[in-house]
Amino acid sequence: MNFVKSKKLESMGGVVHGFSNREVGTDASLIEKYSKLPRIAQLKQIHSANVVVLDDIENHDDLREGDSIITSLKDVGIGIRTADCVPILIVDRDKSIVAAVHAGWRGTLSEIAIKTINTIKSEYGIDSSLLTSVIGPSISSCCYVVGEDVAALFKERFSNCDQYLFESGESKYVLDLGIANKIALEKAGVADIEIVDICTKCNANFYSYRREGKGVSTQLSFIALSST
Ligand SMILES: [Zn+2]
Repeated sequence: MNFVKSKKLESMGGVVHGFSNREVGTDASLIEKYSKLPRIAQLKQIHSANVVVLDDIENHDDLREGDSIITSLKDVGIGIRTADCVPILIVDRDKSIVAAVHAGWRGTLSEIAIKTINTIKSEYGIDSSLLTSVIGPSISSCCYVVGEDVAALFKERFSNCDQYLFESGESKYVLDLGIANKIALEKAGVADIEIVDICTKCNANFYSYRREGKGVSTQLSFIALSST
């Protein structure tokens, strides 16, 4: 079974993770078996900025609404489904929490990455300087063109959006969601950040909403603290 791996997370120990492609998709049972995790908890993703803290796996039914999930439970996977949107996996230096975030343009606009980091601080008392974040395969600036409407929302909200939003022809803009989320993580105090340089639209091994349209399937990105 083939997963894209983060170099930083692979070298860490104490944590299991992977970014699936279309070969694996979102078949959690396959991933659970492969990664020897009894369960990968997911969310009903709604392109929100809602952060869910998972502290009881027995009472989690995968239907809690949100787009970011954090847990300190060992051997419990948490997963986020995407097809072009940005998956972000997070772990702290002491391997006491992990988080998985879904950041499309709406989540990025509402700073879901920053809300996740702030929740890690408020719920677990972990400072952002102790966190490692990995921005997984997503649609890159080579392919992500948005209209004036979306661009205007970013321009209104972020004075520094010229670092990731570029004009590209009449009423068209290139939006680099990976860089936008990297900047958000840095703003929240995270210094240790890896970007996996794979564009899901360019690379046919991944599901891509922009390439395949409505009804496209998704890939699952997952992370877990391991007790062994
Ligand atoms: Zn591309």
